[in-house]
Amino acid sequence: MNINLISDTVTKPTKGMLAAMMNTEVGDDVFKADPTINQLQEKAAQMFGTEDALFFPSGTMANQTAIKLHTQPGDKIFCDKWAHVFNFEGGGAAFNSGVSSHLIDGERGMFTSEQLAYAASGGIDIHSPYSRLVCIENTTNKGGGACWDFKELKKIKQICTDNELALHLDGARLFNALVAKHETPKQYGELFDTISICLSKGLGAPVGSILLGTKSDMTKALRIRKLFGGAMRQAGYLAAAAIYALDNHVERLTEDHRRAKTIGKTLESCSFIKTVEPIETNIVIFYVNDSIDEIEFVNKMAQKNIHFISMGDGKLRMVTHLDFTEEMLDKLISELHKF
Ligand SMILES: *Cc1c(COP(=O)(O)O)cnc(C)c1O
Repeated sequence: MNINLISDTVTKPTKGMLAAMMNTEVGDDVFKADPTINQLQEKAAQMFGTEDALFFPSGTMANQTAIKLHTQPGDKIFCDKWAHVFNFEGGGAAFNSGVSSHLIDGERGMFTSEQLAYAASGGIDIHSPYSRLVCIENTTNKGGGACWDFKELKKIKQICTDNELALHLDGARLFNALVAKHETPKQYGELFDTISICLSKGLGAPVGSILLGTKSDMTKALRIRKLFGGAMRQAGYLAAAAIYALDNHVERLTEDHRRAKTIGKTLESCSFIKTVEPIETNIVIFYVNDSIDEIEFVNKMAQKNIHFISMGDGKLRMVTHLDFTEEMLDKLISELHKF
């Protein structure tokens, strides 16, 4: 048995998903003639109550397109210091959009409305870049799957309105937050100007993300996607997997969350573990005791076919997902107790 907890992106399509892919109708999406892509985009827009939605090959491209459509070169965006758009997209905001990033010093990837209000204050003069966009990430990746408080998000929206800032949500794992906090897609659709969603993370599709927003923003996004090289032809095979994922793999995220919490409890009971960070969704971040070399620990567990990663600074990470079963959980628990 090979247990892979490196990320929730390691899943392979289920039989049901593969069957849905094989049996779908496709066409050339560059001519808007792929019925399955059109169906997915309509379905997603309806779920979130937005005017429109657009399919993307990756979450990075969806986020980068959002940044591009909200900004002009020389502008600046606000995001948390741990934000994926700043740390893990290859400097794309600067490269693709020519914007600088004003990093806010939040907690577990989340800042407060007061912090944003302070960062956005100061008015406009010839010395300062125009402030255009705020990027939120829910759940936070580097923050260990932490979920934002929706009341705080509403306050942040008000500050955006007061300061004429657009608000983008990097919702790569938004469905994990919705399921964990009993929130709805429509709540988020109402609050944000644009939202990106990954279908290839917890939802188990092989490829794909969606960007949601107004008709006019998605018209801009369509053009930017083309210039980024992301316009695809018979992409309906991928959209069929995405539709299947939205229909079948959302509610079951609670199982990933339960298993992550069980892993956390097990780790806390192990004498060689120093601390486990709070677990809200499917990401478990923990530290081994100073006397243990964490890379050696990762390698020893890998020899037992249990794989997870070091994030540097002694931080270790396990991520639960669709292909991580109850049987694997039992094996992981017994190997941790034996270590
Ligand atoms: C994975 C991820 C992305 C980007 O997804 P890719 O499809 O890998 O490009 C964006 N934001 C967050 C928070 C992520 O975890």
